[in-house]
Amino acid sequence: MRVALYTLGCKVNSYETDKIRETFQGEGAVIVPFTEPADVYVVNTCTVTQMAAKKSRQILHRARRLNPEALIVAAGCFVQAGGEEMPKDAADLYIGNEDKPRLVQMVDEAMRDRMERTEACGEIREEEPREHTRAFLKIQDGCRQYCSYCIIPYVRGPLRSKEPEEVLAEAKDLAARGYQELVLTGIHLSSYGRKGTFSDPGRQTTLGALIGRLNETEGLTRIRLGSLEPGLITEEYLEEIAEADKLCPHYHLSLQSGCAKTLRSMNRRYTPEEYAGAVELLRRFRPDTAITTDLIVGFPGETREDFEESLAFLRQIGFSQVHVFKYSRREGTAAAKRKDQVPEDVKHERSERAIEEARALSERFASRFIGSVQNVLLEERTERGWEGYTDHYIRTLVTTAEGAETGRLSENQIARVRLQSCICQGGEIYLKGVIA
Ligand code: SF4
Repeated sequence: MRVALYTLGCKVNSYETDKIRETFQGEGAVIVPFTEPADVYVVNTCTVTQMAAKKSRQILHRARRLNPEALIVAAGCFVQAGGEEMPKDAADLYIGNEDKPRLVQMVDEAMRDRMERTEACGEIREEEPREHTRAFLKIQDGCRQYCSYCIIPYVRGPLRSKEPEEVLAEAKDLAARGYQELVLTGIHLSSYGRKGTFSDPGRQTTLGALIGRLNETEGLTRIRLGSLEPGLITEEYLEEIAEADKLCPHYHLSLQSGCAKTLRSMNRRYTPEEYAGAVELLRRFRPDTAITTDLIVGFPGETREDFEESLAFLRQIGFSQVHVFKYSRREGTAAAKRKDQVPEDVKHERSERAIEEARALSERFASRFIGSVQNVLLEERTERGWEGYTDHYIRTLVTTAEGAETGRLSENQIARVRLQSCICQGGEIYLKGVIA
């Protein structure tokens, strides 16, 4: 059986797709690129923004076009959220988040049903598209924050955390399989351990304590964290990670708005001052820490002044990367019901300005590393040379000195790179450097 997988949305979805892929492979299925004919197409959908929901629909239609005879599976948040946006005929099988662990079994049953009816079967093709350098490890699920624009607390169930021992065993296994970098993910990663673990609701643990233990994993070079809330960053947390030298000096601290009034109406649980305090703590611990974030522009009720306040806050923090999103209404959320929606053209204009500001900040942050030697995990070879990320999560283009052999470099190698310049390509900021 040939299976093609497509993931939309967050790193949790990426992790779950990895698990689904492994289970399919364990059952003898062959994984093919999503652009190729397959017997089964699984689309792990997302609904966090209207754009994500639209893309989920488009990918389901694309799968149908690629092979009208295939079994099309829609899984994840878009299915869970349901509603009118869910196309009734785009997929043959709809699987919500809770049933994802049974996805392969459900597909097998559906395929058996079909085969009984058509006696059809597929050919074998050898191919395994997979990222070999960075592994996502999901350690937490569920969110109880109820941000006023987000549907996730309604569709991902209660807070659950993976047992530390299980996380350590999975990390050990991933390191043994050659992964150098581990990215810890969760729907609300900052809640890790807060309401107990999966098997023992009374067992409290913390993300910092887990990182401290993961740092001992042999073969693992880097630990990176998925999106966090600023409230996690406390003196206690910094004490817990003090010895964790594998933890990258890069934090993705979710911001969404730099305006106090807008944060309140988003039901975010911090003020800009508290956010800035968290960043200050991190930078006191390690001054070169890269802070990346997400920003929503055009949230209902956001005035021009509010937006300007947000932009000023971006500059104050000196983010290394800002992902800018135009607010989009999610049915079933409090913000969707508000009457003071911002017109699309205003959202567009604010988005363009925020992206421009973000680009300038990225360039400023990246430029500070010019002249230094940094570790770059090589991920792929392109016509321009090798590409990978520094510890600070700056995309870097790596070449060898004039005349030297590039063949000696390989995927999944950590290269010491002397950084020479900063360039902007396709709107993205890159560092450029040569092997030191
Ligand atoms: S923290 Fe807010 S935005 Fe993030 S998943 Fe929870 S409700 Fe959604």
